[in-house]
Amino acid sequence: MPTYIAAIDQGTTSTRCIVFDRQGNIVSIGQKEHSQIYPQPGWVEHDPEEIWRNTQEVIARARINAQLQASDIAAVGITNQRETTVVWNRKTGKPYYNALVWQDTRTGDLVASYSEEAGQDRFRTATGLPMATYFSSLKIKWILDHVPSVREDAERGLALFGNMDTFLIWHLTGGIYNGQHITDVTNASRTQLMNLETLEWDDALLEAFDIPRAMLPQIRSSSEVYGTVTSEVLPGVPIAGILGDQQAALVGQTCFEPGQAKNTYGTGCFLLMNTGTELRHSTCGLLTTVAYRFGDQPVHYALEGSVAIAGALVQWLRDNLGLISTSAEVDTLARTVADNGGAYFVPAFSGLYAPYWKADARGVIAGLTRFVTKAHLARAVLEATAYQTLDVVQAMEKDASIELSSLRVDGGMTVNELLMQFQADMLGVPVIRPKMTETTALGAAYAAGLAVGYWSNFDDLRQNWGVDRTFEPQMAEADQQRFYRGWQKAVERSFGWEN
Ligand code: ADP
Repeated sequence: MPTYIAAIDQGTTSTRCIVFDRQGNIVSIGQKEHSQIYPQPGWVEHDPEEIWRNTQEVIARARINAQLQASDIAAVGITNQRETTVVWNRKTGKPYYNALVWQDTRTGDLVASYSEEAGQDRFRTATGLPMATYFSSLKIKWILDHVPSVREDAERGLALFGNMDTFLIWHLTGGIYNGQHITDVTNASRTQLMNLETLEWDDALLEAFDIPRAMLPQIRSSSEVYGTVTSEVLPGVPIAGILGDQQAALVGQTCFEPGQAKNTYGTGCFLLMNTGTELRHSTCGLLTTVAYRFGDQPVHYALEGSVAIAGALVQWLRDNLGLISTSAEVDTLARTVADNGGAYFVPAFSGLYAPYWKADARGVIAGLTRFVTKAHLARAVLEATAYQTLDVVQAMEKDASIELSSLRVDGGMTVNELLMQFQADMLGVPVIRPKMTETTALGAAYAAGLAVGYWSNFDDLRQNWGVDRTFEPQMAEADQQRFYRGWQKAVERSFGWEN
């Protein structure tokens, strides 16, 4: 058996290739950012060809850094930003249009018209998802309706749809020379086109969104050998795992038991709770989604609270306001004051996701007085992430009838200890940061490694998990409630703006 497992993590801001050993330690990393394209307010695009080039480059870098042969790698797993939609031509390999990123809100009008006809929850029973700009369905529809010749090509099976997992696997397995057109159940569960019970594309949904079946990939499990890489960057290595990024983090955190939950703090914030083999529908604004399916084993479901803007607000403070010059400086600035000085920042840049699902919400800064300084704003920026997580946890506790006893966290923002402490204070339960916070890539590696027998079972994986630091709640309850009330008032003020 070769010594290592590789994971490709195609994220919203960058693409990484990480090579792991059997203990889940990182052996090597290649990473590259790609351009964020904002053609109009609310529109967010990526160039899929740039991402494919970056993917090849980061694999090569990861190999060179640790002087690895392809034969040192037992298998590769893929994890990806979910929902982001590409349509490309099978014959030329060229995308018809840039990828529409999950945060893109150009389908706001479609959300309004679909919801008007039969309510925001018309597809919830079948898909676990409300009508929103977030999912792939309306993004595919937008491309079919706005880009010349795509619909015709899609009907003939010449135009292919995929999320980033599908697009990259198609390229890695040969591209125009018979590349495989596949996805896994977790990614498919975010298209709003798959039925959560049958785990198949649903004809009624395809008809409702007017999407030709011929353009859709085959749905497979999250862990099996799908094929081997033909591309020269990793020749002959089996591709054996696919998981959407948040589901991958759940696996990387080894949350295999019903009731276990993790929260990932990156561009957005995503809290997932494993609900086992039972499909639970939310009445509190959460999503029901597929957690994973390993080979022929029963599918596991999750409840999810998705928050669109978390770390992205720190980037906005840096790039759009110039108040800080690096993301880490938000911490230094926020620490110069004792609290938010009464200021609250609701980052509804892409509307508000869970638990509100308001496509017409937009960002507000509320509670300003002459006392408020940029340091208070920095604090409000960090606190926004903690309040949004509290909103989601409260919904989760109602829906799952389980009280959270602690929260496992990961993602780029968890280095921020001010935020982690404030999060524990808001939730009133310990926040646990594990030693390994690259859980997304690790989860994809686990899925691939289990499929090829590199790891034998979940116990092998659980042994790799260890705590770095636990943040215990310290704030008095009255203060906690006062802060949270301020947040709730600010949220109300973010509703009702135009799409
Ligand atoms: P993604 O996988 O979504 O691309 P990451 O998990 O890499 O995101 O996290 C990056 C995010 O974390 C960025 O939005 C960045 O602004 C934020 N971030 C990085 N360092 C800090 C910090 N010290 N304090 C707060 N936020 C941070």
